[in-house]
Amino acid sequence: MLEAAIKQQLDQYLQLMEGDVVLRVSAGEDKVSNEMLELVNELASMSSRISVERATLERTPSFSVNRPSEETGIVFAGIPLGHEFTSLVLALLQVSGRAPKVDADTIKQIQNIEGTYHFESYISLSCHNCPDVVQALNVMSVLNPNITHTMIDGAAFKDEVEAKEIMAVPTVFLNGESFGNGRMSLEEILAKLGTGPDASSFSDKDPYDVLVVGGGPAGASAAVYAARKGIRTGIIAERFGGQVMDTMGIENFIGTAYTEGPKLVASLEEHVKEYGIDVMNLQRAKRLEKKDLVEIELENGAVLKSKSVILSTGARWRNVNVPGEAEFKNKGVAYCPHCDGPLFEGKRVAVIGGGNSGIEAAIDLAGIVKHVTVLEFAPELKADQVLQDRLHSLPNVTVITNAQTTEITGTDKVNGISYVSRETNESHHVELEGVFVQIGLVPNTDWLDSVERNNFGEIVVDRHGATNVPGVFAAGDCTNSAYKQIIISMGSGATAALGAFDYLIRN
Ligand SMILES: Cc1cc2nc3c(=O)[nH]c(=O)nc-3n(C[C@H](O)[C@H](O)[C@H](O)COP(=O)(O)OP(=O)(O)OC[C@H]3O[C@@H](n4cnc5c(N)ncnc54)[C@H](O)[C@@H]3O)c2cc1C
Repeated sequence: MLEAAIKQQLDQYLQLMEGDVVLRVSAGEDKVSNEMLELVNELASMSSRISVERATLERTPSFSVNRPSEETGIVFAGIPLGHEFTSLVLALLQVSGRAPKVDADTIKQIQNIEGTYHFESYISLSCHNCPDVVQALNVMSVLNPNITHTMIDGAAFKDEVEAKEIMAVPTVFLNGESFGNGRMSLEEILAKLGTGPDASSFSDKDPYDVLVVGGGPAGASAAVYAARKGIRTGIIAERFGGQVMDTMGIENFIGTAYTEGPKLVASLEEHVKEYGIDVMNLQRAKRLEKKDLVEIELENGAVLKSKSVILSTGARWRNVNVPGEAEFKNKGVAYCPHCDGPLFEGKRVAVIGGGNSGIEAAIDLAGIVKHVTVLEFAPELKADQVLQDRLHSLPNVTVITNAQTTEITGTDKVNGISYVSRETNESHHVELEGVFVQIGLVPNTDWLDSVERNNFGEIVVDRHGATNVPGVFAAGDCTNSAYKQIIISMGSGATAALGAFDYLIRN
């Protein structure tokens, strides 16, 4: 079942197992059950530490990953191949006794969780955001006997997905109740469970020389450049990694022909930590005030002080802001075609937006869904010609230009989209099951009032990255830089850090 190259790599990993693992398999006579049996038997044939037992579990086909004398609570329902293969390998290693790559404080935090927590995560094997969630929940199950986790492949359990009206992955349930959607790191899950730090944990922090607000490529770069000057540097990030966490393939990070978002974020984190930078992840800034020092107030009420601040809060998906968008988010309204496309297999969808991201999404979706309608507001598509040519060669795509979306309709989930033709003023309605919004990004700057911004909400900076507020600098997608890219954000992060250092010397 496994390809030779994967088997060879797997063989090396399995040699790292430290104890015995029992795979308890609940299988029927169906095709997926047979493939699952084939997979677990193949794993057992590769390591004397792995044994297979037949069992009856809550779902069939599924299998649990246990120690000989102890159930860990980790279950894979469906076959964890595709993006989830790594989750399976890590589960085998961690259940065998190999320590997960998690810092000691987080391990203690997980072990101290009291109560009973049964997580179920619905995923698709092509979702690049899902493994983070699956792996985080598996680590929690390994470390705390009160916590269990079942990964459920939506494609193998379609009835369940329909019944629970799941239209975006990953979707996580806790003890049967909805817990969250989308990529979540271990720290984010722990924060959601209410185990994160409160304001008092920040009260004894001395003022920083440079405090960076935002942990994307711009913030990481700014922090490394600042810390390399030997000055006290901190980063506050709502979600370390920023947009890069949602990026699948990156082919324009010069010097690296190909990488993936989470992989790049892991190396950014490693680089930042090498300099002893105080990283305060999962913390949102809500107020900036320039006094003697610059004060940044966090959502949890803590106030941090710094001689200089670098704003690198990036951008987020722009909403189309029509009735139905908010109501049906994750109930047919989606923003990530790579993640949620497979849930619309054989269905009809619309893509709003005819720029590069919209047309890339439409091409991607056309290979999975029954039909794609592209709605573009302008008289023509804005995407590169090569993408348009590819789009027009596809048989199951309709492009409608001059279309102003007026409503996303539905009852408990999306059932259509309405638009007005800007040429004829006529209203139209298309029946469909999913809408992917791809109309660009909006800067995360609405919480700033004293800092000058342009009409698009972007922070206005000079060539040193300085804003109109002395000691406050900015970098990356939240600024008025002409182009928004990883490498450009990193460059401007470096500029802002050097600008801030210059400011500190002069003041
Ligand atoms: C799907 C997708 C694919 C892409 N593909 C590529 C590509 O292939 N190549 C390329 O070069 N670029 C690509 N980009 C663009 C690239 O990701 C961005 O240009 C880059 O991430 C911008 O970096 P940044 O640090 O300025 O902002 P972001 O990456 O947006 O990071 C912003 C940071 O600020 C934090 N933050 C926001 N508000 C607050 C607050 N109030 N308090 C605290 N923290 C806050 C966020 O949590 C995050 O940590 C892609 C973007 C997307 C969405």
